[in-house]
Amino acid sequence: MKTDRVAFVIAMRSEAEPLIKSLGLTAAVGIFPETVPFETFTGEFSGRRILLTVGGIDEVHGIDNVASQPATLMTWLAIDRFKPDLVINAGTAGGMGRAGCEIGDVYLSGEVFRFHDRRIPLPRFREYGIGSYPSFDTSGLARQLGLKRGIISTGDSLDMTETDLVMIRVNGAVIKEMEAAAVAWVCRITRTPMFAVKAVTDLIDGRETPQKQFMANLRLAVDNLQDAIRRILSSL
Ligand code: SAH
Repeated sequence: MKTDRVAFVIAMRSEAEPLIKSLGLTAAVGIFPETVPFETFTGEFSGRRILLTVGGIDEVHGIDNVASQPATLMTWLAIDRFKPDLVINAGTAGGMGRAGCEIGDVYLSGEVFRFHDRRIPLPRFREYGIGSYPSFDTSGLARQLGLKRGIISTGDSLDMTETDLVMIRVNGAVIKEMEAAAVAWVCRITRTPMFAVKAVTDLIDGRETPQKQFMANLRLAVDNLQDAIRRILSSL
């Protein structure tokens, strides 16, 4: 696979900040239309041209534009404007403790991306809702870099209903977050190779709420994420 141009899609500024610093990227204006809230950073790393996009801040609520809607639009714009050879969705996530996830682990995406909260109980619509969009094969990278690998399940909530948990299990997922499958869908329709790299901030089958764990572990997770991404870029 050609990887001269790599686009990162990241939901939160706090997830992106250490990476922006460590790759030496700088803020770039005029790449996306002025009407969207997303921020863009560009630079070069390991001989590759990099575009990094972050969701930006919601003008009404003053917090990061997380979840699938902004991720979809941001991915589309990144592909349309930057023409990347590869899209990497990076961020934080919840992990299944029972499947061996630990706080701070960095996971590469497994074979497919699925949704756990798009329930459409009709023939074929059921599978459409779940999605199962392909990931670039990360098995070589995982082996080479000693990173874990697993199926990622996406939904638009940070907390989780009983039904969500059942669906996450049915999806065969070990990682739960709020953007990856949306990014993967845009990459599927545009035929752009894509994978995700997610650092675990919370255990979804742990005793504490994800919110509480997220805040406590964010720094460790994003630092490990940044380190893993540098290594990934150097060995692509
Ligand atoms: N509490 C945070 C908000 C995090 S929103 C704050 O106040 O800053 C959750 C973001 O982290 C999403 O972009 C999502 O992809 C990721 N995430 C981390 N853990 C998650 C989990 N257990 N479930 C869903 N998304 C999670």
